[in-house]
Amino acid sequence: MADCECLKGCIFFNDKMKNKEALGDIYKKNYCRGENSACARFMVFKNLGREAVPCDLYPNMQTRANELIAGS
Ligand code: SF4
Repeated sequence: MADCECLKGCIFFNDKMKNKEALGDIYKKNYCRGENSACARFMVFKNLGREAVPCDLYPNMQTRANELIAGS
């Protein structure tokens, strides 16, 4: 369990994406300060680079992340 290397610049973590507050807090705990590598945004970042991460991709959207990665 560790802080994600993207914390500082991540629009999800910095509340720039629409969120149900409680759910957002759970994602931050589970992904941003937990299993970073399981986060959909992190997956795309690692595979395709920061510019490739869609601004509407939420941490729990792993299927979409895999599709983006597969289509690259
Ligand atoms: S775990 Fe995902 S949502 Fe959280 S800071 Fe990292 S890239 Fe952003």
